[in-house]
Amino acid sequence: MKEFSWNLVKGLMPYFMILLVLGIIVGILARLNYLVKTKINQKIASIKTDGGICPQCGGKLIMRKGKYGSFIGCSNYPNCRYTQNK
Ligand SMILES: [Zn+2]
Repeated sequence: MKEFSWNLVKGLMPYFMILLVLGIIVGILARLNYLVKTKINQKIASIKTDGGICPQCGGKLIMRKGKYGSFIGCSNYPNCRYTQNK
């Protein structure tokens, strides 16, 4: 029984290795994708914020950093909670 399970582990080893490598690759790709998206979003935000005026209070729109990344918000926050989608 012991030998059987050891052989099973040895037999599955290549699959574990493949899964491990795939996991690493997916992790790197996800990270790259996130970085590229963040860069693009920052670019778009910087273009959008150029001379942007808050429609709610007339304040300046600036790029803010929140829990879920950067977004465009009113410079009068927290008095004005206006935010703009990217
Ligand atoms: Zn505002």
